[in-house]
Amino acid sequence: MRKVLYLIVLLSCTMAFGQKDKKITEKTVSKASIQAHLKFMSSDALKGRDTPSPELDIAAEYLRTQLELYGVKPFAEFPDYFQPVSMKKIKKPQTGTITLDSATFTIGVDYLLISGGNLEWNGEIAFLDYATTEELEKADVKGKIVVANTGDGEEQSPRAWFAMSREKRANAKEAGALGLIELYNSPQIPWQLLVNYLSRDQVILDDGIEDERDEFAGIWLNNANREASPSFANTSKLDIKMAGAGVERFVSQNVVGYVEGTDPVLKKDYVTFSAHYDHVGVGRADSTGDDIYNGTRDNAVGTVTVLEAAKNLAMYPTKRSSLFVMFCGEEKGLLGSQWFVDHSPLPLSDIVFCFNSDNGGYNNTSMATVIGLDRTTAQGLLVTAIESYGLTAGDDANYKEQGLFDRSDNVSFAKKGIPAPSFGMGVDAFDEQVLRTYHQPSDEFDTIDMDYLYTFYRAYVFAGRSIGNMKETPFWVEGDKYYEVGKELYK
Ligand SMILES: [Zn+2]
Repeated sequence: MRKVLYLIVLLSCTMAFGQKDKKITEKTVSKASIQAHLKFMSSDALKGRDTPSPELDIAAEYLRTQLELYGVKPFAEFPDYFQPVSMKKIKKPQTGTITLDSATFTIGVDYLLISGGNLEWNGEIAFLDYATTEELEKADVKGKIVVANTGDGEEQSPRAWFAMSREKRANAKEAGALGLIELYNSPQIPWQLLVNYLSRDQVILDDGIEDERDEFAGIWLNNANREASPSFANTSKLDIKMAGAGVERFVSQNVVGYVEGTDPVLKKDYVTFSAHYDHVGVGRADSTGDDIYNGTRDNAVGTVTVLEAAKNLAMYPTKRSSLFVMFCGEEKGLLGSQWFVDHSPLPLSDIVFCFNSDNGGYNNTSMATVIGLDRTTAQGLLVTAIESYGLTAGDDANYKEQGLFDRSDNVSFAKKGIPAPSFGMGVDAFDEQVLRTYHQPSDEFDTIDMDYLYTFYRAYVFAGRSIGNMKETPFWVEGDKYYEVGKELYK
């Protein structure tokens, strides 16, 4: 009897506690502020928030101003809320031509540079079939540029050709060749798509380690319908000129702050609220002539989850402390979050959870999607918070092959052992509706369902508060890929 009574008391306490967090959530999360933040972050004025760009820096100014207004504290190390992130841009040649007797090819139009940089060369070519090891052995390629077809004549996937190309270049280099031009002809990935993808400059972290760049010239040249082949077959000499390649160093920034927890013991533990605030900038125009990739869903929506959580938690802190981080450089390869976990202002073992938000799009307004939902012991609290707003909690079960857990900033934390799911708008399938705006100029503010978002944000903040007040420290479920590294981190 007493036991039952005790249970009832305990249960009602927990429920009352949960209700309290929900009430506190309601006090601050407002449709008007969500709308205002989103509108600014999505505006054309920010030109798609590319890393690096002056507009990304303006976005960062806006975000730190909000943190300051809300009463979030900066770390002593980053008194202006900015954590500098050193990066470098590997710039492709700005100009380039390959000239034969009968034809001229232009970089970025007819050919792409896969490896190497500036080059000025005039000499002989060795025309091979696929530049296999045997062909390279037989032919005299020393001091020449090797010309061959992509692939091996059997494998049909351009992705596989790309991997083969690396090997061919290494072999050609070893055989004494000066470069390798591969003639590309595949209906699987049209030439123009390849151009869009491969002519972009690469941005990487500048972490002091000098990377070994492949200086050997590797070129893919458009040979659709085998139109370019005859020109190469009927000539023995060519002329290559490429200029303007180089490395540009720059500093971007993560926006970082914290709120101290209320519990004398638990406040040494931090729950992270994070999202990337960069996007892909300005690019190819769509059919309406719009070339600004506004990135409202991806990831102005996520950025605003952090702001709404910050506003709420600065006013009503939880037992655990809260850490707020908004990353740059996600779209370049999770760079900001990688930098953060490698240069954290806190020992990583003090960060007990990362509640990230990233959004490619949505197609279901009756749910919230949590990538990694069943992988941590916070699952129950997350589901309760989401359901209390009439949404269902889903994950990526229907599109696991997309590998989303490993494609956003949460994985930078997970790899260090920190439990790190990613909270997003409802996606029940990776379908046409999601792809219509995913990394497109049409990912605009006025195409967003604000009523749904208002519900979505309250669910996020309530879930975040619940984790901040959770009795047990959240952790990976046993057997998870990151369970052991987590054990190691927190000892
Ligand atoms: Zn994103």
